[in-house]
This record gives sequence, C-alpha cells and structure tokens, in this order.
Amino acid sequence: MSSIRFIMLSLGMGFLGVYTLLSIGCSKGETQNPAGVGQQSTEQILPVHLDENPPGPYAVFLTRILEEAEIPPALARHIQEVAAEGPAFLMDLLAVLEGDPYLRVLVDKEHALAAGYEPEDLVDLTRGSYQVNRQGLKLRRAAELALEAMAAAAQADGVTLTVSSAYRSYAYQETVYTRNVRESGQETADQESARPGHSQHQLGLVVDFGSIDDAFAETRAGRWIADQAHLFGWSLSYPQGYEALTGYRWESWHYRYVGRELSYFIDTYFNGIQQYALRFIYQWEKAGGL
Ligand SMILES: [Zn+2]
Repeated sequence: MSSIRFIMLSLGMGFLGVYTLLSIGCSKGETQNPAGVGQQSTEQILPVHLDENPPGPYAVFLTRILEEAEIPPALARHIQEVAAEGPAFLMDLLAVLEGDPYLRVLVDKEHALAAGYEPEDLVDLTRGSYQVNRQGLKLRRAAELALEAMAAAAQADGVTLTVSSAYRSYAYQETVYTRNVRESGQETADQESARPGHSQHQLGLVVDFGSIDDAFAETRAGRWIADQAHLFGWSLSYPQGYEALTGYRWESWHYRYVGRELSYFIDTYFNGIQQYALRFIYQWEKAGGL
C-alpha cells in the first residue's frame, strides 16, 4: 500500500486519526534513533510561532516543504495556520495528488519535460463554442472538454473565446526559440519564449487566447476569463507582478488547464499563484509525501 493510500484511509478516521498514526510512525523513528538527532534537526526548522506547542510530524513536514518550495514567509505562515485548524488542506492536497500527474507537473525555467514527451490523447480543436485563429490546433482531451465548457459559459454571457495557440511539440518550440534568439538575442528570447522542453505548451494543456498581447487583458474576453477561468479548472500561469517568480513577463492570455481540484487548491491556499502551488507540490512529492 502506498503511503498516500495509507494516509487517505487514515483520513477516514478523521484528522486526529492521521495525527495519531503519524505520531506512532515518529515514535518508531525515535526508538531507532535514541541519540535524538532527529529531534534536534526538527527543532532547527521550526518557525518561532509554532514553538508554543510541540508540533506533530505533519506540521514539521509541512514547514520543511514550504521552506524547500521557497514560499514567502507570510503565505507559508497562513498555510501552516490553516493546516493546523483541520484536515481541509491535506484533503485538498490529496485530491490533487490523486489526479493526472501532468496536471500538476512543474514546467518552468528550471524544470523541463522529457524531449520525447508527447501527450497521447491530443484532439483537434474543432468544436463550436470557441473559435480558433488557425487550423491544426490541438489539446489533450480533458483540456478540450474544459475549454468547451468554459467557452459555452462565456457565450451565454455574450463573450466569444478565441484560441490562438495550444499544444506545441518539443520540435516546434525548438524552432520558435531558435528563431527568437536569432532575431532578438538570447536575453530577450528567454524572457518571451521558453527553451525547448521548458514550455507549458508541450503539455497539451495550455491555451493562448485572443491577440496574445497586453491588449487582450482589457477585452471583454480577457476580463471574462480573468474572472471565470478558475471555475473551469484553468489557471493564469504568468500573472502581473510575479515576473521574478515565474521568469516570464505578464501574459494575460496564457492559461493552463490544471483541473478543478488544483485550481481550487491554488486559489484557496496560494493566493491564486500557480507557480507557488506547483513548486510546493513538486517538493512535497520529491520528499515522498507524508
Ligand atoms: Zn502561451
């Protein structure tokens, strides 16, 4: 049984059940480590405000992951407090981890997809509620379904969503990036385009809407989507004011389908900042989960 399933079952017994089971696990560790080395390192990573009550292994693990993900202190403290109040944070995280791993995979300047990665369930964007700016655009099936649902809702509000770019293969991104470097130099190319393997578009889960420039934000479609996209599982990847975090300029047109569970998780715990949530999940899984 995987540790996640073990924890999922534990959650059926309530939050106290999880705490008890984790405490048992910790006690075993201490028995094997009578010198108390583990306890010492535990104390080193505790924030001051948690010192009043001896934190359980869940709180300690959470603190470590928040630090490794480099979540800003105020946001990290907020998450620690919410997580201490009850099981909601952990339950919502586990719901995300049960989903398709590609919905949550970290793809940024430092983390690349495999060169050969190509989604198996790409479908053509041929349906009615959204428009396409050119032929041959593709998305993964789940993303296309969510796009159609969102576009139908937009249409009901009198707004038309137009898709200008969607899935891009590794080879295509290589062509785009190489051309940008040739035309604008490497520094500008890196700010405005991804190196091959580092583009979220290779996931087949990303759409660039409308004009693909700043004017999009102030269009009816741009405003509608900024307000509503999260309800359909879409998340703005490169928000305004977070250029240093994401490595990209603000892209009001670039949305990634992350699914409703992750969209909710990003909004509820990470102030709507996708990069923070994905980095947190990356570190959580890298550490092997609870
Ligand atoms: Zn894009």
